[in-house]
Amino acid sequence: MENQYDIIVIGSGPGGYTAAIRASQLGYKVGIVEKYNTLGGTCTNVGCIPAKALLDSTEHFHKAKTEFELHGIELNNGLNLNFEQFLKRKDGVVKSNVSGLSYLMKKNKIDVRTGLGSFIDSTHLKISNEGKETVLESKYFIIATGSKPSSIPGVAIDKDRIITSTEALSLPAQPKSMVIIGGGVIGVEMASVFARIGTEVTIIEYTDTLIPTMDHELGKALFKTLSKLGIKSLLGSKVQSATNTGNSTTVKFEDHEGKAQEITAEYCLVAVGRRAYTDGLNLQAIGVETEKNGKVRVDDQLRTNVENIYAIGDVIAGAMLAHKAEDEGVFVAEVINGQKPHINYDLIPGVVYTWPEVAAVGSTEEELKAKGIAYNKGSFPYSASGRARAANDTDGFVKVLVSPQYGEVLGVHIIGPRAADVIAQSVVGMEYEVTAEDMYRISYAHPTYSEALKDAYLIAAGQGAINI
Ligand code: FAD
Ligand code: NAD
Repeated sequence: MENQYDIIVIGSGPGGYTAAIRASQLGYKVGIVEKYNTLGGTCTNVGCIPAKALLDSTEHFHKAKTEFELHGIELNNGLNLNFEQFLKRKDGVVKSNVSGLSYLMKKNKIDVRTGLGSFIDSTHLKISNEGKETVLESKYFIIATGSKPSSIPGVAIDKDRIITSTEALSLPAQPKSMVIIGGGVIGVEMASVFARIGTEVTIIEYTDTLIPTMDHELGKALFKTLSKLGIKSLLGSKVQSATNTGNSTTVKFEDHEGKAQEITAEYCLVAVGRRAYTDGLNLQAIGVETEKNGKVRVDDQLRTNVENIYAIGDVIAGAMLAHKAEDEGVFVAEVINGQKPHINYDLIPGVVYTWPEVAAVGSTEEELKAKGIAYNKGSFPYSASGRARAANDTDGFVKVLVSPQYGEVLGVHIIGPRAADVIAQSVVGMEYEVTAEDMYRISYAHPTYSEALKDAYLIAAGQGAINI
């Protein structure tokens, strides 16, 4: 009985731990298998949480350096970054999140089994840990094994000079210079961390905009903000190779005019996307099908082609986001329980934790144009917001895209202070199909960053802005 379960979740990231907790709440005997001796997966250990901890620390440092004097705050003893303490605080934040998860596992009576999970057949999983093997049996399995960084031809990640976000979060000393391949989410977040503490940062991005999957106006605005931090973004540039030259690395690329160029820096951070991680799972043994890109194939109930095996999070199709994985964790536990849960994949918000933050939900202008869908646009700049002026945070804007016929909100795109939190209201509104008129007739506390939304909706409706 000790090794027999109703549901075994493989992987303890945001997908896995939420699936385990929900399944346990629903009365199942649940085990969670994690190959590392720490719970929380990528997000908690080497992703969302440590990255945000370093982003917050460096934003304080940057503000102290560039804005405190304006507020009348004088640092008479000067300003200094203690790099060791900077990393120590981040490690402490990770540790407290990991212990929070251990507590939740205990509280929900979920067995944590440490070791690499590998299928024997569709009801048996072998776990290997330090030479010891145990076989577990379960009626259902949920694969939540996440993702790993990927690379491009000519760039071999050596974790020494040619690194991924994992190494960048724990460098031995403050780097003088860094080249980042990829101007996507990881690229711009890590660029912000290092540029704020004085590292010379160059981003080389293949497309002609930063954060290319988001509305292009956001990428253009972000380009300007990052430039103010001293970050050089080389757009339309194709990296050909990166070489470790001992104490530095040389990156060769073709610039936007097709000219061969090269840059030497202390580190080259590779941030060109992540790939589904199924190594060691022995999926062949049970015949679980994968897509061409290695992602586990699932149906609309997140079930694989093997009846009792489900998959969630980064290892399946869709946005590689912690909250998407979490929603799928709950979804799958409820599906197994015979319920009819629902996830609206069109309304999963995307956030970039630069400063100002970038956040969006729904369709971009580019998507609406490509589909020939008519829209009215309302844009309101934070330079006209009283709250933003009070905080000296006036960069950015709110843009809403609204259907002219019914006032349906089609997309909301924000670059501005606390955009990550401001976007939540739009997600609720869009999920419940409120109209743009509803959005400007409800009350917004004054002064707040969210008031900019009200003005953007008024502008989209052809009325002028009303707040300041
Ligand atoms: P993971 O978190 O990757 O967890 C998978 C777990 O499975 C791991 O612990 C792994 O060890 C374990 N595992 C794998 N194979 C086996 C096996 N065979 N046996 C046992 N265990 C196994 N997303 C956001 O939404 N917001 C953010 O701010 C954000 N910031 C990020 C910053 C960085 C630097 C990175 C890299 C990612 C960030 N992400 C962010 C993405 C987010 O981390 C992922 O989308 C999320 O972690 C996916 O969750 P998951 O449960 O699918 O997989
Ligand atoms: P990404 O897909 O966001 O960005 C990769 C970037 O690399 C793209 O802009 C792409 O055009 C560029 N690129 C690809 N090949 C290139 C080449 N040869 N030369 C130059 N540029 C090239 O991937 P990422 O930034 O590595 O992040 C991985 C995943 O982690 C993403 O799916 C993201 O959602 C997730 N993540 C999320 C957050 C967040 O939610 N705040 C933060 C970090 C990571």
